[in-house]
Amino acid sequence: MNEKKAADVKELFLNPETMNIDQVIDGIQSLHKKFLRYFDVENPRMKNDIHKKYAAILEKEILPEKETSIEKVYEDLSFYAQGILKWNHHGTMININPPATLPSIAATSYVSLYNGNGAQDIACGYLLTTELIVIKMLCQLVGLDYKVAGGIFTFGGKSTNLHALKHGIQRVSPDAIENGIKDEIVAFTSTQGHPCLPEVCGWLGIGEKNCIRIPTNQMGVIDIEILEKEMNCALSEGKKVALITANGGTTIQMTVDPIRKIVELRDKMVKKHQLNYKPRIHVDSVIGWVMLFFKKYDFKTNPLDLLPGALKKIQRQLQKIEDIKYADSFGVDFHKTGFCPYLSSVYITADVSEIYAQGKLKPIPYKELEYGNYSPFQYTLELSRSLNGPIGAYVNLKMLGFAGYQKLIGNLYNTAERLKELLNAHPRFEVINNEDSDGFVTLFVAKEIHNDTSFFHLTNKDVEETRKFALFNHKFYLYIFEQQKLGKCWFTLDYASGYKVLSNGIKIGVLKVYQMSPYFTLEKVEQMVQDLDRLISEFDLIKDSFKVKEVPHKPRSFVFR
Ligand SMILES: *Cc1c(COP(=O)(O)O)cnc(C)c1O
Repeated sequence: MNEKKAADVKELFLNPETMNIDQVIDGIQSLHKKFLRYFDVENPRMKNDIHKKYAAILEKEILPEKETSIEKVYEDLSFYAQGILKWNHHGTMININPPATLPSIAATSYVSLYNGNGAQDIACGYLLTTELIVIKMLCQLVGLDYKVAGGIFTFGGKSTNLHALKHGIQRVSPDAIENGIKDEIVAFTSTQGHPCLPEVCGWLGIGEKNCIRIPTNQMGVIDIEILEKEMNCALSEGKKVALITANGGTTIQMTVDPIRKIVELRDKMVKKHQLNYKPRIHVDSVIGWVMLFFKKYDFKTNPLDLLPGALKKIQRQLQKIEDIKYADSFGVDFHKTGFCPYLSSVYITADVSEIYAQGKLKPIPYKELEYGNYSPFQYTLELSRSLNGPIGAYVNLKMLGFAGYQKLIGNLYNTAERLKELLNAHPRFEVINNEDSDGFVTLFVAKEIHNDTSFFHLTNKDVEETRKFALFNHKFYLYIFEQQKLGKCWFTLDYASGYKVLSNGIKIGVLKVYQMSPYFTLEKVEQMVQDLDRLISEFDLIKDSFKVKEVPHKPRSFVFR
């Protein structure tokens, strides 16, 4: 059936009379079979035997004149399954890469059978209520009055930060929507703030250089005194402060800034400089929000058997992030620590009228919202907007509840804690972020010599020795990277520039474990350290002549600066 008559094309769509979805289920089964040809249980990546540049592939892909059978299309598509990093795999530990729960995938795919447009309720029916419900649940999780607060799903954590700045500008220059920005506007964040924070300053036209970065202490926490000084400085020069973004869990160190103190400082500045607006305080909590599920954890009886170190870190993170309720707004990425399919981000503001103001509209009071008048497209950045975000989040929040999220995040903390213990007990490895991070990422170094100088004492050595130390780490990373390609290493240890500058002013690359899969269990941790022990012994035998040959992709380059 290579060619179809016009009438047959309709069979590619869900038949409104039978509502038979066999084609979808068969299609998924067929794709699954084809994709699985590249599957290897021992490898976090799908097998990859394409050794071509993209140009060579693109030259062969041509828009067909005639129709192509779906089996052939799926066959062609499955070729590109090569090299996928499987986020569900226990050995995937590159970054904030969470697999999505199967029920959230089922639900988001299923609703696409009807219409996936969350622009207004009259199109997708009460399904859009899931957006309002998730926002209500998040407000309750944080401790905001959901009848006054509001939120919207949008395309990513970056967009939650974009909205924060937009609302900051709305406060400073309410007529900027009409007339453009006339004031000189600045925004503040710490040096640890996400790179997208200055980027959104560029996107919204206040300029990246007006995103002022405040230094931090060793724990990565913003220096409030310098923030005060810099705010005073900007305000005295007649600049307007639209936004202060507090970190609510940075990507690696998972730092949470003192939100309440920042709010107090803001209030003090409003008085001191007699401002006729309140600079906005937003928490970039797209990762860290999830710690709030531990509000209902019994830390005394510890039903999840969290290791003592994990328990302490979770408790400290919770205590800091609970201050979100004092901020004007915050962000949540369900596609990160919410374990939902892409993309699922929520921006929440304590005052819903700021959201309606995006479209120069008066807010519809909570009690008056009803089927037919919920039309977010009138004020959202997106016009057509995907329902997938709210649907996935709704399914996971209800299905997992406090208890389920505690289990998922508890396991990440427990495995990280055990990994840190085992690495530190090994004479060739040293964890470097146990003291200055309450997150679940593990940064460590591999040492050339048994019980060699501590990473923290490298400062006393001369530069050449530090360089040698750093080179060994990078070479070991390259070795493990090659072993992955050869199918002899089941985990994707990464190499990262780290965030520590040694006191001789040098920054070196370190090894990074950012596990996210619930299948990375305590048993897998034991296995991983045993395998690391074997790998480093094997590497010892060949290290002098070692040149990396076969790798999954271009490796990360040596960091020494
Ligand atoms: C991931 C991340 C972002 C950006 O979010 P996207 O969903 O990737 O757009 C912003 N801030 C922090 C702290 C993040 O971890």
